Amino acid sequence: MIVEMSRGASREQVDHVVERAHSFGFEVQLNLGTDKTVVAILGSDTGKASTDVFEVLPGVVSVTRIMKPYKLASREFNPRSSKIKVSGVEIGGQRIVVMAGPCAVESEQQLMNTAMAVKKLGGLVVRGGAFKPRSSPFAFQGLEMEGLKILAKVKSDLGIPVITEVVDIQNIELVARHVDILQVGARNMQNFALLKELGKLKHPILLKRGLSATVTEWLTAADYLLAEGNKRVILCERGIRTFEDSTRFALDITSIGVVKRFSHLPIIVDPSHAAGHSAYVPSIAKAAIAAGADGILVEVHPNPEEALVDGLQSLAIPAFERLMAELRPIAEAVGRYV
Ligand code: PEP
Ligand code: MN
Repeated sequence: MIVEMSRGASREQVDHVVERAHSFGFEVQLNLGTDKTVVAILGSDTGKASTDVFEVLPGVVSVTRIMKPYKLASREFNPRSSKIKVSGVEIGGQRIVVMAGPCAVESEQQLMNTAMAVKKLGGLVVRGGAFKPRSSPFAFQGLEMEGLKILAKVKSDLGIPVITEVVDIQNIELVARHVDILQVGARNMQNFALLKELGKLKHPILLKRGLSATVTEWLTAADYLLAEGNKRVILCERGIRTFEDSTRFALDITSIGVVKRFSHLPIIVDPSHAAGHSAYVPSIAKAAIAAGADGILVEVHPNPEEALVDGLQSLAIPAFERLMAELRPIAEAVGRYV
């Protein structure tokens, strides 16, 4: 951290900053200029003190952090890209991982039909929400326990891994018993109590980006999972809130490059929640793969017209088939395969 003192700062004020830094165990380098003093605060763990700790002291003008606030998620900490294996599927490797299925599990027949088509067309993981975090408490909240049982049946009957969202601490164990990957939804990205508990699991966790979270906040949230010992963290860009209202959210395609540059964690993209309309899903899914994403999480429904949740943004099976065919040459063009 670089602490800039005001022009007239007294020697006592500078010493006070130095004492405060020492109290945290940090090293200090003083640059006593003719009219301005700069204090460099050094140490591998300066992240444990917020910039406020120094900014609040008399005589301080500004405090700038040089190191990123996240640590375990950073490429500095782990230079090699992480690959996460789950039931025979590798996320972050050469192969593009397509996770697909309905927004919500609605019935055994609905999930089974979708899962069979997803598997046949080259999807590697089946998605389906059993607990749905809905904006309104009066909207369909998911089949809950029954939904989990259906997911477990699809997993064992078809031999394909399944992913579902966990919305609260009470249900972690229950969800973990039924599925392969646990998803943390955008609205829970900074539910730190939930993240800490999930960090104690062995299951991979898919951490969605919060709707108005910066990439730095997202990677710092990932540190909560990693710090508890769970190394199997997958990031998922799902669009952020901007002034644009012709789509549900705005897919931040740039975040793929930013994450790849600063983090070792794999990143997949959810084009469905970003777009909010099936018309835009294929183009942004392809853009995501071209931009270096490790996979996609896409909503597919056997009959979008009758979907209980997110029918407008769900691909019908023929549209999913076309998308899979279109993804292949794009993956190859960037040295991957589907
Ligand atoms: C979902 O994938 O089912 C979902 C609710 O997405 P998000 O958390 O990104 O809104
Ligand atoms: Mn949805």
